[in-house]
Amino acid sequence: MTYYQKHKEERLTYQKEYGKKYRETHPQEDYIKHLEKRREKSRLKNQEKRKTLLWLLGGKCVRCGETDFRCLQLDHVNGGGHQEFLKLRNRVNYVNYQFDQIQSGSIKYQILCANCNWKKKYENKEHYKGKY
Ligand SMILES: [Zn+2]
Repeated sequence: MTYYQKHKEERLTYQKEYGKKYRETHPQEDYIKHLEKRREKSRLKNQEKRKTLLWLLGGKCVRCGETDFRCLQLDHVNGGGHQEFLKLRNRVNYVNYQFDQIQSGSIKYQILCANCNWKKKYENKEHYKGKY
């Protein structure tokens, strides 16, 4: 039996007590600040993921060659992105899903800049069908 297993109960009670004390000595604002920091961190992580995705797909708009990350968007070659988004319910799930898809070699996606993406939507009348 390892030291950890032997003292498992003690450690758990200690951790519980410690958590209680921590919350008592650290007011709510600290907690919120901490939360915000964590949100910021995951936001940055998501941004990194988005960049990796764009790199995996060539890093530029397939129509006009735009390479500015700020206006590049992931486009569904055959539409249907909105339904996919609804199915996955939130942005983080969505990005993770796309990440998996693209890493496993999905050809459903391409990169378009914001301008070309809107043009494509109009050309395909995707915005009428609410298809996105
Ligand atoms: Zn473009």
